[in-house]
Amino acid sequence: MAEVLVLAELDPAGGGVRKTTLEALTAARALGEPSAVVLGAPGTAAGVKDALAEYGAAKVYVAESDDVEGYLVAPKAEVLAQLVADKSPAAVIIPSSPEGKEIAGRLAIKTGSGFLTDVTEIAADGTATQVAFAGATIVHSQVTVGTPIYTLRGNSVTAEPAPAAAAEEPVSVSVSDAAKLATVTDRVVEQKSSRPELTEASIVVSGGRGVASAENFAIIEGLADSLGAAVGASRAAVDSGFYPHSFQVGQTGKTVSPQLYVAVGISGAIQHRAGMQTSKTIVAINKDPEAPIFELADFGVVGDLNTVVPAATEQITAR
Ligand code: FAD
Repeated sequence: MAEVLVLAELDPAGGGVRKTTLEALTAARALGEPSAVVLGAPGTAAGVKDALAEYGAAKVYVAESDDVEGYLVAPKAEVLAQLVADKSPAAVIIPSSPEGKEIAGRLAIKTGSGFLTDVTEIAADGTATQVAFAGATIVHSQVTVGTPIYTLRGNSVTAEPAPAAAAEEPVSVSVSDAAKLATVTDRVVEQKSSRPELTEASIVVSGGRGVASAENFAIIEGLADSLGAAVGASRAAVDSGFYPHSFQVGQTGKTVSPQLYVAVGISGAIQHRAGMQTSKTIVAINKDPEAPIFELADFGVVGDLNTVVPAATEQITAR
């Protein structure tokens, strides 16, 4: 069976492989037999091998070196390019994080391959689905040159276990001087919140300008906590200082695709939609019945969020 390389995305806070990796392993099984690639400092693979095995990694290529962690993404792209040259895989799948996209782009250049970014589905014949132009167009495309490289959007594939051997194979790391141009001097790991990570969450509750203040975001957090959800925000809310930028959803923020997205006091501008419209079910709470978000919503509540949200939170918490 054809081998498909999957780059393992790891939790920088030491929480093992991210869900996006398990989704990528699941997607890879449509194309062939997945092999995971673990890139990191010495000792990284030990803590993640079991999860990779559970989700179908027949092999785990382990490239552990201080050089991989000590510089930005260039060494990772070099190691992957070497693996592509040595193993001639049928495809490479990388989780679609900012780092993943940069690695994929560099890998495509190094291997002379075509690359499709932010795909939501990969068919057995390699055809990928992408959502383009802020969701106005669905694109199906195939790579015709080199080794197809895909970055897979989080939450677009449901991770399903399929136990496999995860046979470990060490990979020697030799990083070129050119890849050592940017050194990592410090890593700041965001404080772990009790809430799920925004791009991985099954439920996201986002607040917009209508929330009106940073203090009032407490009602968004209250609803999110009653649902076990992550909190998101529109750019207007972020620009107004109501919530940190790392929670922005949209074209210039994060892309989310949860089972349930609750948009509270958000008008539904195209740039916001670009980051959330592939959510499976969308609920909008807005006092303006003409707000564009209702065109997209599966369920809508026309009302003042200051009344509707606390009432909903109370009902959900009481269950
Ligand atoms: P508004 O459009 O002001 O809407 C607020 C909504 O709250 C209104 O519909 C109002 O009816 C409702 N409301 C007010 N009070 C209440 C209440 N008490 N109860 C219930 N409802 C209430 N935006 C993003 O979100 N993400 C991006 O990544 C992004 N990137 C951008 C990139 C570019 C290049 C540009 C030009 C813009 C970008 N924007 C982005 C901005 C985008 O165009 C909108 O300005 C923004 O999404 C609006 O945010 P909002 O819906 O919170 O605010």
